[in-house]
Amino acid sequence: MGKNFILAMDQGTTSSRSIIFDGEGSIRASAAQEFEQIYPRPGWVEHDPEAIWRTQIETARAAIVQAKITADEIAAIGITNQRETTVLWERATGRPIHNAIVWQCRRTADVCEDLKARGLESEFRRKTGLVVDAYFSGTKIKWLLDNVSGAKLRAAHGEICFGTIDSWLLFRLTGEHATDFSNASRTLIFDIHHLQWDDTLLGCLDVAPEILPVVLPTSGVFGTTSVFGPEIPVAALCGDQQSALFGQAAFNAGESKNTYGTGCFALTNTGEEAVASNHGLLTTVAWGFEGKVEYALEGSVFIGGAVVQWLRDELRLISSAAESETVAAQVADNGGVYMVPAFVGLGAPHWDMQARGIITGLTRGAGRGHIVRAALESISFQSADVLDSMQHDVKRSVPALKVDGGASNNNLLMQHQADVLGIPVLRGQVVETTALGAAYLAGLAVGLWKSRDELKSRWKLEREFVPQWSKERRDLERAAWRSAVNKALTTVS
Ligand code: ADP
Repeated sequence: MGKNFILAMDQGTTSSRSIIFDGEGSIRASAAQEFEQIYPRPGWVEHDPEAIWRTQIETARAAIVQAKITADEIAAIGITNQRETTVLWERATGRPIHNAIVWQCRRTADVCEDLKARGLESEFRRKTGLVVDAYFSGTKIKWLLDNVSGAKLRAAHGEICFGTIDSWLLFRLTGEHATDFSNASRTLIFDIHHLQWDDTLLGCLDVAPEILPVVLPTSGVFGTTSVFGPEIPVAALCGDQQSALFGQAAFNAGESKNTYGTGCFALTNTGEEAVASNHGLLTTVAWGFEGKVEYALEGSVFIGGAVVQWLRDELRLISSAAESETVAAQVADNGGVYMVPAFVGLGAPHWDMQARGIITGLTRGAGRGHIVRAALESISFQSADVLDSMQHDVKRSVPALKVDGGASNNNLLMQHQADVLGIPVLRGQVVETTALGAAYLAGLAVGLWKSRDELKSRWKLEREFVPQWSKERRDLERAAWRSAVNKALTTVS
């Protein structure tokens, strides 16, 4: 029987998804299940690792059934995952010693403040490409070792394993304790230049090296699993944003993608050079295989599609996210109204956590259409600020932007994105780029696909948004946006 399918496991923050791709890279079937978000205290977020495992396997089985294939026909499994979320489990039994601490969890903010107070920030930043923040795994590991009874001693004796979600699923599937370069680069304890766990950083966090997974190439066989019957290789692990970059076939330096979900995540491929940012962007491993590691610059917008949810749920100006487009299209332009949705502060390039949201330029003539339009435009203006910072850091202009994620379906928003950036915005036919990236990486590892060139030729444009504004108009709009942002900031930049 031919092995012509790839099973992509896309383990996200709110749901586990499994997608079967055929040899052409087309979706044959998919299944998803949500799981519980656990909030033990304000600002704390946990997941039950057993729920993650269970929903991932159940959706995989459902997708196999729906695809009308047998597990024998699956050439390989590729895993992509919510990043930074931290699990510790018993090596002997595979039992978690605590719930997973989710990337959003702020419980270790004081540990980060302490590291900064000790003057360690620049060393962490230089080695890991990250900023010292509770977001990343390192301080979460420390918290678990410090707070779960007996964990530290057991860790030192080699009885405990640490992993991000990719490692956790791999261990349960295959018994192997490994991760890949892309996920390791999000932990705050991995030196992205020398490609190894860093003893000094581990020492700063008091983490025993015995708990760490082996770091392996992103695309390659990590082990085999018999969970679905026949032995199937697990042939890729990749963090979700990097996987989306790969799924967009953005293989070359300078190629960029932006994902428009609840927040927005922009990544620019910087090739084999790890570019340090002067604007507070992150340097991350995009992927590493075929004997080389490639890097990306990453920037995020905290409130992206979430502003559309706010219009719907709090202001009740629209009844669905999709309706934002028709309502915004009822007015010719924003009428001078700008919204800065700094609900949780502003990230790159402003980094003002105390900033709060504002709407400026209201007149008696401003109506529902203007507010909705200003909300949509805030997503593209914020993304443009991040992309501008990236272009400064990489010292080259980004020729075009590939887009994906739920809000990339909004044509008015995508046109505005092209207009404010002054570059074409390219929306591909496959919107499941995160899962597709993992499928591509796994398929390459087992020879289902021969080369990146073959994959690149498969990327198909669904729609191109060509910039329509003159430079004068763009400059005026960007200046008006900047002036609105300045009103939202607590520290004038
Ligand atoms: P996530 O993976 O973060 O849950 P999705 O990629 O599923 O996000 O995108 C959902 C987000 O996109 C929501 O915040 C929603 O408000 C927004 N969204 C979805 N469709 C549209 C649309 N047509 N126009 C504007 N925003 C949209």
